[in-house]
Amino acid sequence: MLNENELKALKLKLETPKKITIVSHRNPDGDAVGSSLGLLHFLKELKHEVHFISPNDYPDFLAWIPNIKNTVIFEKETDKAIELLKSSDYIFTLDFNALHRTGEFMEKALQGLTVPMIMIDHHQAPDSYPLYTFSDINYGSTCEMIYDFINALGYNHIINKEIATCLYVGITTDSGSFRFPKTTAKTHNCVADLISKGINNSEIHNLLFDNASYSRLQLLGRALQNLKLLKEYNASYITLTQDELDTFNYKKGDTEGIVNYGLSLEGINMTACFIENKEEGIIKISFRSQGNVDVNQFARAHFNGGGHINAAGGKSFLNLEETVKKFIAILAEEKH
Ligand code: 5GP
Ligand code: MN
Repeated sequence: MLNENELKALKLKLETPKKITIVSHRNPDGDAVGSSLGLLHFLKELKHEVHFISPNDYPDFLAWIPNIKNTVIFEKETDKAIELLKSSDYIFTLDFNALHRTGEFMEKALQGLTVPMIMIDHHQAPDSYPLYTFSDINYGSTCEMIYDFINALGYNHIINKEIATCLYVGITTDSGSFRFPKTTAKTHNCVADLISKGINNSEIHNLLFDNASYSRLQLLGRALQNLKLLKEYNASYITLTQDELDTFNYKKGDTEGIVNYGLSLEGINMTACFIENKEEGIIKISFRSQGNVDVNQFARAHFNGGGHINAAGGKSFLNLEETVKKFIAILAEEKH
């Protein structure tokens, strides 16, 4: 948590209306959007003018979240976004800790600013750009950090159904529905409080997870058929080519969660999912692991990425086949 002086100073500043912009990482997930909109609703209750800028579009499965339609998409409304950033009194950067995570162009826009920033994030190795940093890898989600941040300011009573709904989304998605290791008694206490604020937790689960299109399930079927085992390394991987994505009418968010199937196999403690993106000319990679197998390190060292010990991502500029070859070669080398 921020220290007492920082909290005091911030609380004082937030007592009079300010222009505040909230920024999340590129390809925002449930935690990025949930934490951003949860904080947005909270700051609006405190009478601030607040905008949420996402570097690129959010996935369809989050389209029902309160106020998400007002999100400013940097890649589509660049001039407006830059204007908002420049005229902000404060910028909150949520669910990431290095400005390059917002993408090449937005990174440049953020780097040129003198606006004080506040980072709230749970990834490893935070950069030093913010005025205030609340960075803690022991949290399972940024949403749980926002909840603690609101409480630390003494504003629990302000948390309403909208705020609670947003925060519940990120806690649920980043914890794999309360099963990943960073899910603590504190997490459940937080969620209990959010439910007591009137959210419909069961309906939120339906909206998040039981809303798939037919083609999305067919795509999952193809991904599972492509799943390969590397028994000697206790590893597995999934590939999806651009052609396969096109065949199943891929939409943003359709591959969310697919990587986890590779880890659900007996005897497997590390998995990767390689997804071809012809437009960007990259292979986007997701890594997952169990126990002390550190995929954050792995992604940082070999695939221009990072994340958490058990969940990380990265990218490759080789083609799909070469990328998979490289992956297997690294596993072979690390074994020796
Ligand atoms: P996912 O596989 O769900 O896209 O990402 C898993 C975790 O790794 C997330 O916490 C995400 O922030 C992080 N991550 C994903 N892609 C990248 C990347 O390209 N660079 C870095 N530094 N982290 C990433
Ligand atoms: Mn997160």
